[in-house]
Amino acid sequence: MKTIRPLSRILSRRQMIRYAGSGIAAGAFSASLGGSVFSPLAGVTRPESRIRGPVPISLIIDDGAPVDPLFYELPGYETPLLVPHEFTRRVADTFEKYGLRGKFTLIPMPSCLGRIDKSLKRVPQDHLQEFLKIIRDRIAPRFDITPEYLTHLNAYDLKTGKFRHIYEDVWITQADPDEIVEYFTLAFQILRNVGIEANGITSPWVSGIDVEKKYAKALGDAQWALFKRPVTWYFLNAASDNENPYPMYVEYQNAETGQSVVSVPSNAGDIFWTMDEPDTDKRKAMIKDGIDRLVSRDGKTGRIRQLIETGFPVVIVTHWQSLFTQGTGLGLDGLIMLSERINSIFGSGIEWISCYELAKRFASGQK
Ligand SMILES: [Zn+2]
Repeated sequence: MKTIRPLSRILSRRQMIRYAGSGIAAGAFSASLGGSVFSPLAGVTRPESRIRGPVPISLIIDDGAPVDPLFYELPGYETPLLVPHEFTRRVADTFEKYGLRGKFTLIPMPSCLGRIDKSLKRVPQDHLQEFLKIIRDRIAPRFDITPEYLTHLNAYDLKTGKFRHIYEDVWITQADPDEIVEYFTLAFQILRNVGIEANGITSPWVSGIDVEKKYAKALGDAQWALFKRPVTWYFLNAASDNENPYPMYVEYQNAETGQSVVSVPSNAGDIFWTMDEPDTDKRKAMIKDGIDRLVSRDGKTGRIRQLIETGFPVVIVTHWQSLFTQGTGLGLDGLIMLSERINSIFGSGIEWISCYELAKRFASGQK
């Protein structure tokens, strides 16, 4: 079962992600929300989420790489190409300090510069290796590490080893199922070669949204061939903080193996994406405003409270480049503020868990 996917039909995720924190996309959809599930919180409760103890909450961080992926994705975007290790360590410190869990992307062929299990053009080998070490030692224990297809940019040609003149979202729409299985298998294999066993995948932009059945089955087949896991999952659906939230759902089941492929959505946009705004003070104000929209200062309102009360997955999303904010770390400062507020307001009423754990719990509840 699925809810509507309004935003993706109208804006591509390439645009959507940029607008997610700004309220531009959200404004376009507020009209569609009138009178829906989301009238204010009063009286809306889902007893089952209370009975089962703390409400699970997950943080998704997309686009992770030893480089800022927007350096090549957006021509003219001003940012350091290499993300310094001090920054990556500060992110890991934040995850540990606040007990955060969720999913972190590790792009196997970031910006088409090469393979992270071999070498990347313009990235010194010691920089790559130290980045991977921080991911393995400090982030993987708390976050599922998934690929986001192979490049998060141009599609990779498995036969010629060259990058094609189409992006991966266009590629998957027209690709043969066998080719998709091979493509995903390579992504999982590259991560395995650097010591990461990925239990799911992330869509770059909204790749696969128009061919979701084919996508989910190919993911299931690739995961089964390598890992034989009964449950795997993908992140594709993303709702902003005033759009209708998405539920989790099983998109594909293999009757022979019993394998389930679960869609795990995010239900709050990236409030730390401020890079379209040049003024630093305005950026900080945008972030503060975003935090208030997710959890009000008194904790009585906000998207997270809404999701908890209505029983939708409490999953929030941000991006590696938003936390980095062109080398300033403004987004990470925001994540620290948000984490402090979430933990101080909800305390033991919430439980930070990984997306794979969410998917497994959901799949077992379906049986
Ligand atoms: Zn992405």
